[in-house]
Amino acid sequence: MTDDQSPQDQSAQDHSTTDLRGDCANCFGLCCVALPFARSADFPVTKAAGTPCANLQDDFRCGIHARLRPQGWSGCTVYDCFGAGQKVSQITFGGRDWRTAPETAREMFDVFPVVRHLQELLRYLTEALALEAARPVHAELRAALEETRRLTLLPAAELPGVDVGAQRQLVGGLLSRASELARAGVPQPKKGRPSHRGADLMGARLRGAALRGADLRGAYLIAADLTGADLRDADLLGADLRDADLSGADLTGSLFLTQPQVNAARGDSATRLPASLTRPAHWTGTAAAPATARAGAARPARNAAGRSRRGGGRRPGRGC
Ligand code: SF4
Repeated sequence: MTDDQSPQDQSAQDHSTTDLRGDCANCFGLCCVALPFARSADFPVTKAAGTPCANLQDDFRCGIHARLRPQGWSGCTVYDCFGAGQKVSQITFGGRDWRTAPETAREMFDVFPVVRHLQELLRYLTEALALEAARPVHAELRAALEETRRLTLLPAAELPGVDVGAQRQLVGGLLSRASELARAGVPQPKKGRPSHRGADLMGARLRGAALRGADLRGAYLIAADLTGADLRDADLLGADLRDADLSGADLTGSLFLTQPQVNAARGDSATRLPASLTRPAHWTGTAAAPATARAGAARPARNAAGRSRRGGGRRPGRGC
C-alpha cells in the first residue's frame, strides 16, 4: 500500500489480483457451454448457447488449447470472464457442476453472462480506484464497487433479475469522471484534445498518431493502423481493437484497457503495454505468453458474429 492509499483502496486492488481473472481450474467450463458463437473468422463452427463445445473435455478443459489459433478458434483466445466462471461455479452453485447435477445447468448458464457483466464492472472500478488523480470520486467508486460485488453474490434465482444495464450506466458515469480527472494532468496539444468517443475509426490510418490522453472510449478501431501511435494515458474503455495494428505503439498508462482487447489486436515486441497486461503469444517476434488465464485450460472468446461493426456477437468487451 502506498502512503496515500486508503485501506479500502488497497482492498480493491487486492480484489483485482485474486478474483477478477478467469480461473479455469475452478470453473466448470461455463464459457465453453453457456455462450453461443457463430461460424466466422473467429470460430470454425456455430454453437448454440447452453450446448457444450465439442472440444470441451470431461474435466472441463479444452482439448485443443495449444492449437486454438491454427485451427481457426482465435475467438477463444480473446475472451476473459473476469472471474465470473469460478464465482458462479464455486460460490453461486457451491461447487455443483452441470454434468453431475444437470438440474443446475439451465440456471447456471443463465446466470453466467449476468455475473460476467458485473465482474467486468468490478474490474474497471478496481482500476479507477487505483488512480490517484481520481481521488475526488473514490468514495463513489467504492460504493459502486461494493454494490456491484454484492450483486454478484446474489442467489442464483435472483441474478437474472439484476438490472445490469442500470448498473453499467451508473458505473460508466463514474468511470468517465475518473478518466477525466486522470487525463486532466496529461499534456495536450495547443489546439486541445478532440474526443473520439464512440468514433468510427475502422481501418483508419493512424500510424504514429499523437493520441496521448485521448478519449477513445467505445471507438471502433477494428483493423486500424495504429503502428507507432502514442496512446499513453488514453481512455480505451470498450474500444474495439480487433485486428488493429499496435506494432510499436505505446499504450503505457492507458486507461481501462483489458487483456481481451489486447489479445484481439495485433502487435509486436516493440508495443508497450500497461504493466498489468500480458503480451499475447500470437504477436510476432515475442516470447510466448498465455493468451488467456491459464495454459492447459483455455476458455473461449466469442466474437461470434464475425467482424462486422454491428455483428451482435460477443466481442472482447464493450465497456460501459
Ligand atoms: S476454449 Fe474454445 S475450443 Fe476450447 S472447449 Fe472452449 S469453446 Fe471449445
